[in-house]
Amino acid sequence: MHRSLVHPHVGQWRPSYATGLFGVTTRSSSDSIARRRRAWWSSTTKNCGSSSAEKAGANNMVLYDSLSGQYKSICPEKEKGLGWYTCGPTTYAPTHLGHARTYVCLDILRRVLRTNHKSLLWIMNITDVDDKLLNRAKELGTDPVALARHYEREFWHDMESLHVQRPDVVVRVTESVTDTIVPYIEKILNNGMAYVAQDQSVYFDVRAFEDRTQARTRYGKLAPPQNSSDFFSSVGEETTKRDARDFVLWKPRKEGESVSWDSPWGQGRPGWHIECSAMIESIAKQFQDTHEIRVHAGGVDLKFPHHTNEIAQAEAFHFSTTSETTKEWIPHWVHTGHLNIQGRKMSKSLKNFITVREMLESEDDSSSLSSSADDFRLWCLGLSGSYRGPATYSKEQINQAQVLREKLVQFLLEGEQWITESDERVSSSDNKETQFPLHETLVPRKWVEKDYTFYRKVQDSSEKCHQAVMGFISKHDGEDNQRGGFDLDGSTYVNEMIQIAETASAHIRSCPVGSAAVEPVRGAIVQLRQLLSLVGFSEKTTHAGEPSFERNSMNHESHIKGGERALVEELVKFRS
Ligand SMILES: [Zn+2]
Repeated sequence: MHRSLVHPHVGQWRPSYATGLFGVTTRSSSDSIARRRRAWWSSTTKNCGSSSAEKAGANNMVLYDSLSGQYKSICPEKEKGLGWYTCGPTTYAPTHLGHARTYVCLDILRRVLRTNHKSLLWIMNITDVDDKLLNRAKELGTDPVALARHYEREFWHDMESLHVQRPDVVVRVTESVTDTIVPYIEKILNNGMAYVAQDQSVYFDVRAFEDRTQARTRYGKLAPPQNSSDFFSSVGEETTKRDARDFVLWKPRKEGESVSWDSPWGQGRPGWHIECSAMIESIAKQFQDTHEIRVHAGGVDLKFPHHTNEIAQAEAFHFSTTSETTKEWIPHWVHTGHLNIQGRKMSKSLKNFITVREMLESEDDSSSLSSSADDFRLWCLGLSGSYRGPATYSKEQINQAQVLREKLVQFLLEGEQWITESDERVSSSDNKETQFPLHETLVPRKWVEKDYTFYRKVQDSSEKCHQAVMGFISKHDGEDNQRGGFDLDGSTYVNEMIQIAETASAHIRSCPVGSAAVEPVRGAIVQLRQLLSLVGFSEKTTHAGEPSFERNSMNHESHIKGGERALVEELVKFRS
């Protein structure tokens, strides 16, 4: 039945592992030293995926890069941690499922990455001043900053409900204007690639950028604008711009606006795109001794104009007339696909969105193991296609995910029950009165062929899961790039977890309690819990059936008994 889960177009993410999932591999030491000498920003940084040394034995994960259109090794410094920057939300409205898919998918990538990059630095910005936010505050007659803080708090709460881990570093626009964004704009002006318009707006000068950087780079290399209407981000901008492609870096304060800062160009506030370029620069400096920001992520709708303009700004900021090479800013760009509902993109502006709260509130709470958040995560991972492609949300899709998750949970409940009973069960004929009554001793059971076969099947599925998210880069060459092949393969991951649960359920049903060795079943439970945990399922799923997870704090014996009772109750609920 779960055959239908397989999405043939889903890419697979196969990073390099010479020694397996949690193994340790080494890189060429001379390569590491050379890298260590470079600053985080360096014109000599190469596309590390192209180095044959790295192909041979590198410890690098491969991930699709939207900028080059290729699967590339992320290639962090051996001595430095990997820095990853994600564009966060504009906090003026409730979080909807479009955001949820983006952040859940990125959370899965983060958790898998962390098994390789122990020192992963996860950075996110919050856009807490913006036209939409100011307009919303005006409508509500409230303070824009208070509104932004309110929705930021809601956002973190929603992320927590979805089991999305918090970033390591959060940067906010309102905290970065004076010391970070204004000096950044000044430098672009000094480099001759921005201008102050008559109304005291500051614009990025695309023509000057092209002239000055000449053949070294080009505007729109991430995503070229499709038509002229792409250029105007707000009414009135076109009247003071020199070129239709120019975009605003600084907006002068308008009559009645309560949020503004001093600048050399008068009172105002930053444009949207400049925020991220400037804040990344500032964070990169703070962490330059320990981390290198090599990945920039966000939803696919940010490719143009937001990320395209971020790149141009950063290249203008770092421009040097003495350097002849093309300066590469952040080398790796990750974009998550749209969430569609009834054939259209789910968005605030189309008014067809479902909020995270609405989805979570619809949860069936008849069982303590119900979890809409985990069902949604399973859908994102295994049923919605590649995280890079569009996905169509529907209640039926989530129900399908729920059925699969319950299959996993049911095995965890039954498996624990079977082990507990097997450990205690003795046949009445064995129950002789001795100094050590048999029912109080361990009853060993020798492994037979059936146990070995079962054990191997579980191992095989577990290995396939690891291959689906990690793989071995050394097996692949340039050819694979053409075939378009290796990203996170979530559908295989989910299929193999289901395989483990089905195989294990069949195994225990064919072995009456007390008749077979417990270790293979316990092994299957441990494997399944680890696999669920790796991709971020909550304790409701990963700890299902675990006696010690019971919330009561009675003494050990009654604690276990309490656990058994709960197990039976849950099994009854699941079967009904
Ligand atoms: Zn951004």
